[in-house]
Amino acid sequence: MAATRAISLSTALPGPRSQAILERLAASVARPLAITFPIAAAEGRGATITDVDGNVFLDFTGGVGCLNVGHAHPRVVAAAQEQLERFAHTDFTVVPYEVYAELAERLVELAPFTVSAKAAFFNSGAEAVENAVKLARAATGRPAVIAFEGAFHGRTALAVALTSKVHPYKAGLGPFAPEVYRVPFNDVAAIRSAFKTVVAPEDVAAIIFEPVQGEGGFIPATQEFVNGVRELCDEHGIVMVCDEVQTGFGRTGRFFAIEHFGVEPDLVVIAKSIAGGLPLSGVLGKTSVVDVAGEGSIGGTYVGNPVAQAAALAVLAVMDEEKLVDRARELGDVMRSRMEGWQSRFAQVAEVRGLGAMLAIRLTDPARATRVVEEAFNRGLLLLKAGVSLDCIRVLVPLVVSDAELDEALGVWEDALSAAL
Ligand code: PMP
Repeated sequence: MAATRAISLSTALPGPRSQAILERLAASVARPLAITFPIAAAEGRGATITDVDGNVFLDFTGGVGCLNVGHAHPRVVAAAQEQLERFAHTDFTVVPYEVYAELAERLVELAPFTVSAKAAFFNSGAEAVENAVKLARAATGRPAVIAFEGAFHGRTALAVALTSKVHPYKAGLGPFAPEVYRVPFNDVAAIRSAFKTVVAPEDVAAIIFEPVQGEGGFIPATQEFVNGVRELCDEHGIVMVCDEVQTGFGRTGRFFAIEHFGVEPDLVVIAKSIAGGLPLSGVLGKTSVVDVAGEGSIGGTYVGNPVAQAAALAVLAVMDEEKLVDRARELGDVMRSRMEGWQSRFAQVAEVRGLGAMLAIRLTDPARATRVVEEAFNRGLLLLKAGVSLDCIRVLVPLVVSDAELDEALGVWEDALSAAL
């Protein structure tokens, strides 16, 4: 049995080398950058992370959903290295390069637009969100943005204003950007009502939503909600912004999660798994929207880094070759049936939710979720929580995880549930 296991723990956790690094981090790094697992990474391969003490973990966090093609995919590594040796940076708007065009073309082709569309690239999810809002404001000449309860759109000034979780993201960090209006998620009637009581629809530039709320606890949008948002946007000339930062790149069993709904948004925000762990993000959008803002109004020294873009092209090739979108559906089916088993076995497992391989279990209380995550960690499985109350445990495993690794991880998770509950 031991020979086929991916997990291998050879020290107590954390091991001595991790412990030493963690002590240095505690002394030298600002405390707000709180650390989830007390280990230091030495190597990542596929769905595993090896720490500096030689302990091997199965990684169901995937760098918070950035590693759909896995750690250190050889094709991604080779593409990034090759580009790095040629040039790492010019500032795209000073001296442009072909890889930018190629990635824009590929992603626009994959995006759910039936009309002319274009791309713009940035560095992080939050930065892409901010730019989507700027593009929508420029296109409409309006100030307001509607965002939803439970939403997460990032931590920069405007993005955190859109984010809907006060601890730890907002408390003590205001004032927040104005003209952001909050409405309950999955409730079209509440938007209609807000148009009467809170903000005039003719003042609204954008409605931004996640097709499956990620940090909010893996809550899928309903079909009625997505239809309703599209109708309201059409009725009032509002830009529909779909934040696919966590849901994109195959995670939900479609390349973009919005494809499950058969609805065409105006802007799609992408990041995380786009470049196999290198920092890159983007906005894909209808040309009629993205071409309106003034020249130079959007940009940044590092936006659309060529090394990250070369990696992103390799990611697309890998997703295609290894059929990772189909794989996400398979993984989702296997995990969901195991999780539903847990739900009938453990009274404290209250719910299984999500879409495709973007799945979570919700526990009856957050303290139990914490205990399960700790028990799993002690057995070599890295799990992340989610939810406004942190009562969910979510899966963002690399889609390249093997059947054997998946089975091993689910077995460990089950043992952790038994131990914790
Ligand atoms: N939008 C969504 C839906 C996200 O999940 C995240 C990150 N968790 C962001 C935006 C922000 O991305 P970043 O952390 O790269 O700024």
